[in-house]
Amino acid sequence: MSSLDQNQRLHPSCRDKTTVSSDSSDTCELAKQPLQGLKLASHAVLEKAQERGRLKCSKCGGSRMFFCYTCCSLLGVSLQEIPLITLPVKIDIIKHPNETDGKSTAIHAKILAPSDVTIYTYPCIPDYEKDEVVLVFPGPGAVSVQDMMQCLRDMTESRSHGSSDEPCIKRLKSEEVQGATHTAKNPESGNPDEAKGLESRVYPLQRVVFIDSTWNQTNKISTDERLQDLLRVELKTRKTCFWRHQKGKPDTYLATIEAIYYFLNDFHVHCLSQEYKGEYDNLLFFYSYLHSVVNKAKTAAGKC
Ligand SMILES: [Zn+2]
Repeated sequence: MSSLDQNQRLHPSCRDKTTVSSDSSDTCELAKQPLQGLKLASHAVLEKAQERGRLKCSKCGGSRMFFCYTCCSLLGVSLQEIPLITLPVKIDIIKHPNETDGKSTAIHAKILAPSDVTIYTYPCIPDYEKDEVVLVFPGPGAVSVQDMMQCLRDMTESRSHGSSDEPCIKRLKSEEVQGATHTAKNPESGNPDEAKGLESRVYPLQRVVFIDSTWNQTNKISTDERLQDLLRVELKTRKTCFWRHQKGKPDTYLATIEAIYYFLNDFHVHCLSQEYKGEYDNLLFFYSYLHSVVNKAKTAAGKC
């Protein structure tokens, strides 16, 4: 187990900005600029698009700004003008059908990392392989990102050896133990050595699942039997910058794009063993812009 305290690690994140000061009277001031320090592409394109105002989506006819969250296409902004990000692991987002699309930040991930992100609408979700997939969801039995890889390997080991030794996951049931089906994945020839190295570092993890919905709906989805046996990973110490705070919910209840971003931060450091240099900051390209717009409006209205 790592003795690294997450609280001591420095991230250009809202968490640091809101917790460095113990003086609660500063909170309001700090909350205005919580996403500073990110390595972001220029927001000029979004500023211009905002000046032009909303456009009508040519596919669904909806009135939209920047992108159509129904059709997952850009609007008034071209693909060349926004940052595209390659992620170190595939991400699935499971969306509740009743979730208002316009409030969801899941679409940000799909637009900014199109080849690595897939959005599913519940109940249409894939059948996942238990030892290749993790679910980012808090609760009893959830492990940290640091401990995730070891837990996954323990599960794989336990299954392949028919061992009855209980690994860190209490939910692992002996009747699920199967033969060794996980021989090494055929590494694509031509891959640079470094890529192979990274691949083996995260083996057997293939996919990370996030749930995108309100708190109550999330509980319903997370109890779906197809997700029940997945290793659960918790982002314990992050605090949300989300401008639509859900009433009565803790400020550790993250917007989906925040959860993905923070997960990848930890993943980069603890699983890839690399120093984080802002590789995934642009996942917050839209989020940080919208956040600044909302805060400017709040300031103008004298609320903060
Ligand atoms: Zn549309």
